Amino acid sequence: AEAELVRAQRFESLAMLAGGLSHDLRNLLQPLLLAGESLQDYQDDPRLARLGKLVRDCGKRGLDMVQSMLSFARGARRAEQVRLGGLLDALKLLLQGSVPRTISLDVVVDDPELSFSGNHTELQQCLLNLCLNAIQAMPGGGRLTVESAQTSLPAEFFRDDENREECPYLRLSVIDTGDGMDSEVLARLYEPFFTTKESGTGLGLVSCQRIIASHGGVMRVESSPGSGTSFHLYIPLTELEETTEQGDDSSLQGEAE
Ligand code: ADP
Repeated sequence: AEAELVRAQRFESLAMLAGGLSHDLRNLLQPLLLAGESLQDYQDDPRLARLGKLVRDCGKRGLDMVQSMLSFARGARRAEQVRLGGLLDALKLLLQGSVPRTISLDVVVDDPELSFSGNHTELQQCLLNLCLNAIQAMPGGGRLTVESAQTSLPAEFFRDDENREECPYLRLSVIDTGDGMDSEVLARLYEPFFTTKESGTGLGLVSCQRIIASHGGVMRVESSPGSGTSFHLYIPLTELEETTEQGDDSSLQGEAE
């Protein structure tokens, strides 16, 4: 299970990297391809035309590769019907091997049949990241609680331009009784590559935030040194639209566009 966790985390980091890279590469390659195409049509100098064809062909190959990188980065982003019970059962299974004896794990599912539009793999990855952080924050043991509740969006997240407050939300909470965080760490929490761990990547929470944002949700954290940490994920409970099943991933928008 440990290896699986590492693999899943690597995959997520890789997807993030691939998404960012391919976006930038595409912007570089497109003008190159166009330049190659115009050179290729250059009648006066066959040597230039040959070079143009070379540039065009390489640009084209590059763009094809970029396209497959983009699909990879978006791969897991399909909207599907997520069942709460299934999501938390899978999480429990994945955690089994990684929770030391000194930590008691409590997963509370208030309504296993609750289902909503989202992405199972991504949400599982996000919860997993939070749980692994929680475990690492409790070297001397403690209690890890994952709980769910139907609620509304906390007022601090209301924006005038939306009526988000009307929508019902699912709150998923990951609560630990570990070291907690001081205000300096809290302020830098979502910075890519920010880590206080010797072998940390500093990408776990960035990736969580990306996933929750792509679900139209928000993350909230409560923590203070010595009193543990609670992460709350607020996810809007929306129905899966028929059209999204045909592989249209527009309802979960990524930033790799
Ligand atoms: P990483 O786990 O690789 O360091 P993250 O982005 O997941 O990267 O976390 C960034 C930092 O936030 C961690 O290094 C740690 O200092 C802090 N942190 C995250 N979750 C917790 C937690 N549950 N308790 C205490 N500190 C935490």
